[in-house]
Amino acid sequence: MKNNSSQILENYQRVRQRIMEAAQRSGRQPDSVRMVGVTKYVGVDHAKALVETGCCDLGESRPQELWNKSAKLSVTNIRWHMIGHLQRNKVRRTLPLVEWIHAGDSLRLLKAVDDAAAELNRRTQILLEVNISGDVNKHGFNAEDVEAAMNSISQYEHLDVCGLMAMASASGGPDQARRDFSNLRELRDRLRRVSPPAIRLDELSMGMSHDFAEAILEGATMVRIGSALWEDTLV
Ligand SMILES: *Cc1c(COP(=O)(O)O)cnc(C)c1O
Repeated sequence: MKNNSSQILENYQRVRQRIMEAAQRSGRQPDSVRMVGVTKYVGVDHAKALVETGCCDLGESRPQELWNKSAKLSVTNIRWHMIGHLQRNKVRRTLPLVEWIHAGDSLRLLKAVDDAAAELNRRTQILLEVNISGDVNKHGFNAEDVEAAMNSISQYEHLDVCGLMAMASASGGPDQARRDFSNLRELRDRLRRVSPPAIRLDELSMGMSHDFAEAILEGATMVRIGSALWEDTLV
């Protein structure tokens, strides 16, 4: 059994390699895909070992856990990504800690983030989460509602709305995942044509451990990888 650090390094390099291959297959530069290492399953020591391999983008899906880990890892140059649902009463405490909010899933949340950003005198990079698979228990805008929301969204002066985020259908396998990702990209392309120029929508945050290759083939600029990084490590 390897120690955790060398296992995490090996896992990280394997994932990087597969990201590179998928990028090449789709005719893209490997550095056009940012890997967010999702630390929600592991403790601070694992997260630290991942940062030491060179992965400085870390993601958490729960605000409290992000607060905890970022307090304990404050010495390093980590860029934190809030990738899960953010409750409005947790916005103010979360904003100063994060570089990116992936799950802008309602106008009410976007407004709360905009208000808090104004108060803190900062801008926030945020993505719009779209419920692309239509699963009833998923958060996010319905695909057919985003366009109508674009006008309101463009009024939030302290938000940099940088793109879209989604998860593929829970069931359906790689082919369905690829269709979901393709739909998200097409939605993004359509929104770009009708949105105010300040909203650029360059980012597509899509793809997790089991479907990131499909996501990259469909244009993902950020993949959120958790379990593949922690395989065969001891907690
Ligand atoms: C947990 C999680 C991930 C990572 O999932 P894995 O399948 O473990 O790679 C990605 N995105 C979100 C929003 C998550 O909650």
